[in-house]
Amino acid sequence: MIYMDNSATSPVKEEVFNAMVPYLKEGNPSTFYKLGRDAKKAVEEVRANVAQLINADTREIIFTSGGTESDNMAIKGVALKFEDKGKHIITTEIEHPAVLRTCEFLETRGFEVTYLPVQENGIISIDDLKNAIRDDTILISVMHANNEIGTIQPIEEIGKIAKENGILFHCDAVQSVGKIPVDVKAANIDLLSISSHKIYGPKGVGAIFIRRGVKLELLIHGGGQEGGLRSGTENVPGIVGFGKAAELAYEQLDENIAKLSEMRDAFIEKITDRIPEAYLNGDRVNRLPNNANFRFAAIEGEGLILRLDAKGINGATGSACSSKSLKASYVLSALGLEDAEIHGSLRLSLGTENSMGDVDVVVDAIEEVVAGLRRMSPLWDNENNKSLELDESKFTDSDH
Ligand SMILES: *Cc1c(COP(=O)(O)O)cnc(C)c1O
Repeated sequence: MIYMDNSATSPVKEEVFNAMVPYLKEGNPSTFYKLGRDAKKAVEEVRANVAQLINADTREIIFTSGGTESDNMAIKGVALKFEDKGKHIITTEIEHPAVLRTCEFLETRGFEVTYLPVQENGIISIDDLKNAIRDDTILISVMHANNEIGTIQPIEEIGKIAKENGILFHCDAVQSVGKIPVDVKAANIDLLSISSHKIYGPKGVGAIFIRRGVKLELLIHGGGQEGGLRSGTENVPGIVGFGKAAELAYEQLDENIAKLSEMRDAFIEKITDRIPEAYLNGDRVNRLPNNANFRFAAIEGEGLILRLDAKGINGATGSACSSKSLKASYVLSALGLEDAEIHGSLRLSLGTENSMGDVDVVVDAIEEVVAGLRRMSPLWDNENNKSLELDESKFTDSDH
């Protein structure tokens, strides 16, 4: 088995699992006897570990149930708090659904949202951002790194513009924290979302960074845990596991960046050298060290995934990105790609458990599977080993 779908979720590390076990049975951090005090101490240590990972102060970290809740808390929290000041929000077309659906919900409540397009490389234009700002803009929400194409947005520039205009800046950094340096101070970030299960921690836990002094309307009311900002007894074992994962990510950041980028670069070189009409989606340079997203002419990504799966290799397609929909990926579509190109796309997200040997095995497998699919593809000219001229109507009329 070779697992290369780490951007969907990353397997819990052994050290993380072992750290969690003692906390599964007892300890409410809000009680005063020793068990409770131990749980509280453990939770506070994690707060420090998470803060250090993004250069925040410990008190600026609030635990949540994950990236989705953090995104909702930031965006709805600001919208409801500042609606008297303005009802305009700026985000991008390629955000995670946790941001997009939240913004769409707010549109049904009278907010206006500008969805910035991205350039061919998946990066927004700073001029577009400047032009979108209005007197009633209260929030800019731009992700740090994209989950499908790994593209990294210029968050320091975005933060500077937000600050100059007195607008709050929320950043969904679920894919970047723990993988590349993230510094909330340097980037003038006011609110930032983090998730544990994308950095080898358990699922169902995450955090939101709220810069000191930033006011939010609350989503969850109750007993006043987490400094009164997010009620509910803390998920102590989950938080402890998240903390271990954050600590490891911090200690091994440089080492992991070096190792993963080397594998990613080998991947990109081998695939694009050895397979005709294979291209990289997203920016070649400004991308996560663990992301490679390819498109192959004349084949369907689903066929590719199934055949790789049969060989014990896990990847993800850009088309059926959620099992519920067969719609072409909106992220790849925002890059200006045609539906046919999107359907022939494959995301491989590397993890620290992968080795260069895995890369070689996967490249060989992809080469073989792509060749096999093309032999049967009506869109591939086998004699000349190149794609046939596309008949556009074939795709636009299909119910894909
Ligand atoms: C996974 C992901 C989320 C959601 O995080 P959960 O912890 O699964 O709720 C949000 N944003 C991005 C960019 C993600 O990749």
